Amino acid sequence: MCKRGCCVIPSLGMQIPEILAPAGSMETLETACLYGAEAVYLGLRGDTNLRSGARNFTPDELETAVSFAHARGVKVYLALNTYPHDEELVRFGEIMSSAADSGVDAMIVSDIGVLHMARRIAPSLPLHLSTQANAINAHAINAWAELGVSRVILARELSSDEIRYIRGHSSVELEIFVHGSICISISGRCLISSYLCGRDANRGSCTQPCRWDYALLERTRQGSYMPVVEEDGYTYLYNSRDLCLLPVMGEVMRLGMDGLKIEGRNKTALYVATATSVYRSARDSFLKDPDGFTVQSVWLDEIGKISNREYFTGFFTGRPDASGMNYDFKGYSHTHHLAAKVLSVNGGETTFEARNPLIEGMELEWLSGSGLRQSFVLNGATAQGVPLKRIRPNEIFVMKTSFVPNPGELVRKPLSEGDKIVDRSV
Ligand code: SF4
Repeated sequence: MCKRGCCVIPSLGMQIPEILAPAGSMETLETACLYGAEAVYLGLRGDTNLRSGARNFTPDELETAVSFAHARGVKVYLALNTYPHDEELVRFGEIMSSAADSGVDAMIVSDIGVLHMARRIAPSLPLHLSTQANAINAHAINAWAELGVSRVILARELSSDEIRYIRGHSSVELEIFVHGSICISISGRCLISSYLCGRDANRGSCTQPCRWDYALLERTRQGSYMPVVEEDGYTYLYNSRDLCLLPVMGEVMRLGMDGLKIEGRNKTALYVATATSVYRSARDSFLKDPDGFTVQSVWLDEIGKISNREYFTGFFTGRPDASGMNYDFKGYSHTHHLAAKVLSVNGGETTFEARNPLIEGMELEWLSGSGLRQSFVLNGATAQGVPLKRIRPNEIFVMKTSFVPNPGELVRKPLSEGDKIVDRSV
């Protein structure tokens, strides 16, 4: 916890938790910074972090990312949280050697060997223990602290009572996930993808077979699939709903956490903008008036607009039962998609980059970095002075707006029937 007391909620004597957002690419990092993140976490290209499918960063891009984030007061945590075999450790050592120079604020590790290397190679860099290490009791957390970890990202399989107990019996910084996908196995310690596809979840390459729809096949009746039906469709044997602790944000805030983390390095800018903005608004609202805090319906509406497998509160409110699974999965639920991104503002004119097909007269909505939402109609768009009735994805266009956005801010569009979505930034 903060030793100076400047990061403490005065009336509660508790730590103010930072909002941590995922940065799977430079674009999502910039978006996270713009929409209220106080820290971002990211990984380098290759399989040294648990989202190897994300765009991720080259070493040069990492330096640019750190400069961009630090210029806005946002910390950067570098994920090195796979479980490597010996031959992979050389790469870890190289990354650690340059990590301190690149300016990252901490490294996130899981493997005790990686932790041991990091202490020797980059002793000045704080170490955060990844949720992948499954720290679920105070003894484990204190043991990790003795080994040099300054923050523990708790396993998702903990109830609020257990987190409270751990907070009361450890002095190391603690962080929890408040939002995003959740594994049916224990915090990702899962071999299904390795067995079925040869792609290892513990090296960030999970193919998410827990989300597939399964049927039963009898050995002598090859090709004859017997549906295992729950409700109307095939059974999704392991398909967990997504975590969302927004409905219990008051309780979350009273746990004295140091970080509240949003999952989603494979997600895109609109997801990061919306989730970061909502959790930041909820956190700030609590800080203004802890006793009068209530969860606002507008936040719940907003969080429902981004891609999700339907939400639940995970283990936080007690052991999930079958209702924690989405057995009748019909695809991701979301109500909006990304329409355009603001490139620049000049006087009353805004230059946008379209991200999906747009047509004059469409109703759009601007998402300001400060949390404001404003609807407007696409009207009078031009490209190099030529009026546009239809705008293609990636086309640059200029339009007069009644509001003054900032570069990097996003514009979304409600989904309607027949929408052909090109940029799946949901
Ligand atoms: S298969 Fe599912 S439960 Fe297993 S690691 Fe991948 S996402 Fe997690």
